[in-house]
Amino acid sequence: SAELRAYLFAHPVAHTLSPVIHRAALAAVGMHGSYRPEDVAPQDLAARLLALRAEALNPLTVGANLSLPHKVAALPLLDGLTPAARAIGAVNTLYWEDGQLLGDNTDAPGLQAALRDAGFAPDQASQAVLLGAGGAARAALWVLRDWGIPAQILNRTLGRAEALAEEWATPSWTVEAARPEEVDWSAVRLIINASSAGLDRPEETPLLLSAAQWEALPAGALVYDIVYRPRLTRLRRDAEQHGCRSEGGLGMLAHQAALAFRRWTGAEVSAGVLIEAAQAELGRSA
Ligand code: NDP
Repeated sequence: SAELRAYLFAHPVAHTLSPVIHRAALAAVGMHGSYRPEDVAPQDLAARLLALRAEALNPLTVGANLSLPHKVAALPLLDGLTPAARAIGAVNTLYWEDGQLLGDNTDAPGLQAALRDAGFAPDQASQAVLLGAGGAARAALWVLRDWGIPAQILNRTLGRAEALAEEWATPSWTVEAARPEEVDWSAVRLIINASSAGLDRPEETPLLLSAAQWEALPAGALVYDIVYRPRLTRLRRDAEQHGCRSEGGLGMLAHQAALAFRRWTGAEVSAGVLIEAAQAELGRSA
């Protein structure tokens, strides 16, 4: 049968799990196709997207994912954005609709779905703590604002957290920058790590709490670490040692892929199947 084609444009593209995940998605719904990672340097993105538009003449080219450093740079090169992509100011999924090349952000709804899978029930009476103030933090802010959960942003560079809080606050939703000592940990039911601390050095953590602070967290509090490599980060180990639940970022990765796949094919795949494929690949490369 016909071969669908999708791309991943990133720079560099090394170590991506996305081809394995999308191959599993195609297999799960019985479609044939390819998902092709391409290293696209920043100065070549505009030309590559022009070439992608030319390929739209081939109805089987369904779209592309964008990863670092293209998620923001692509915005002015597109014909339109979904509301989530516009709010976040970044796109990770390009797709066609009525001949237009549109940009979506499936990282944010992907995180939201992963938090639900982790048993998190949104509760506007509680407080969330967000670690980090970069691109991934913006996806997390979209989730927290959508749920109406008041949030405090902790970031190594406090000024970046302050700028984000100012940008995202609305009359009906509270978000502020904070230092760890300013947080009432007994009200925090969700901590999301959207920083890249610990990515290169596993012993590094974006949040150093005392035992008393960890133990102040309510029973059932969840630490969601969007980092998925290494599997058990220092942050997750600290949380679990003090009786908190923790979850890694593979669920977010799988859900954002499933949402992109649905944009491209209309087909639904279960995130569980994609998580298994990603885990198997991580196991092979460990
Ligand atoms: P950015 O470079 O935009 O932001 C990085 C953030 O991490 C900044 O807030 C930075 O703080 C903070 N940070 C970096 N190093 C340290 C450190 N040593 N200690 C404390 N804070 C630190 O990155 P992104 O937002 O794009 O990505 C963040 C992470 O999210 C990456 O690990 C990425 O792989 C992951 N990710 C996972 C996804 C998934 O599907 N699971 C999807 C998207 C991203 P400062 O402002 O002080 O520099």
